[in-house]
Amino acid sequence: MTGSLSVINGKTRAYGIIGNPVSHSFSPKMHSSAFAAVGFNGVYLPFPVEEQDLPRLLEAFVLLQVQGFNVTVPYKEKIIPYLDVLTEEARTLGSVNTVWRERGLWKGHSTDGPGLVRGLLARRWKLKGKRVQLLGAGGSAKAAAFSLLKAGVSYLQISNRTLDKAEALADQLARTFGPGLVGVGLQGQFDLLVNATSLGLSSDETPLEAGELPRFGRIYDLIYNPPKTRLLREAEACGLEIENGLAMLLYQGVEAFELWTGKAAPVEVMEEALLSQLRGG
Ligand code: NAP
Repeated sequence: MTGSLSVINGKTRAYGIIGNPVSHSFSPKMHSSAFAAVGFNGVYLPFPVEEQDLPRLLEAFVLLQVQGFNVTVPYKEKIIPYLDVLTEEARTLGSVNTVWRERGLWKGHSTDGPGLVRGLLARRWKLKGKRVQLLGAGGSAKAAAFSLLKAGVSYLQISNRTLDKAEALADQLARTFGPGLVGVGLQGQFDLLVNATSLGLSSDETPLEAGELPRFGRIYDLIYNPPKTRLLREAEACGLEIENGLAMLLYQGVEAFELWTGKAAPVEVMEEALLSQLRGG
């Protein structure tokens, strides 16, 4: 069923992804496959958008009856002034990756953090009461931190190359979740290490030396391409359980699909659509 498009007719609804560039995105195939699998009459298109056109984009989408869309780099923050309503998640993060139209209003949400948590739970990695070390303090680290604390982790320690950013994030989290749950540093024993830095994405670098890894029970790397970063390879060699960012990518899409269609997402179809693209298909 993966990859087969629904028949397009006069009632087909349009969805898509905006960004610059978008040609590399796995989302069109993932969502098109999902629409087809559940018989949802929709299409999902890549929309490359120049920044100067952003102010006119939603007007065009209203005219063309585009029902919803994903947002990727570099517009996750820049789209916000043009939306009517933000979910609490999007407001807190100052970032939106999923937009839909409801009663004439454009609503923005961020499914990255919920996607990470749902992905971990789907892999049966428990979070409640666990101690988590987070590497990074950029956009995805922030999304991960809020959702991990919401999911009930007992302590979150943040480390980042730029210390000020780790401290600012820890302060914001402490104001939201209370003191004692968040710290800054890279010492101690943890149930889970989450890499939300981009180290390992375009080079074979690792944010942590192999000798440091046995302090962690499990290792999650947000990077999914390459599927096994040096961090994950070295963790596996230490006998640790590992998982890459595919589960997060998948479940951020699952959450968006469910918001748009009101239907349960065909998770296996969506995962296969992602895997086939990672294999080069
Ligand atoms: P971002 O906002 O640009 O943040 C990048 C983070 O990486 C910052 O903490 C930055 O530290 C750190 N960093 C970059 N280069 C570094 C280096 N040479 N040494 C040490 N730290 C370094 O990016 P992002 O959007 O959060 O994305 C981070 C990673 O998550 C990327 O690899 C991205 O592909 C991945 N991601 C995956 C998913 C998914 O669905 N699986 C979703 C979103 C993102 P400084 O603050 O010091 O610059």
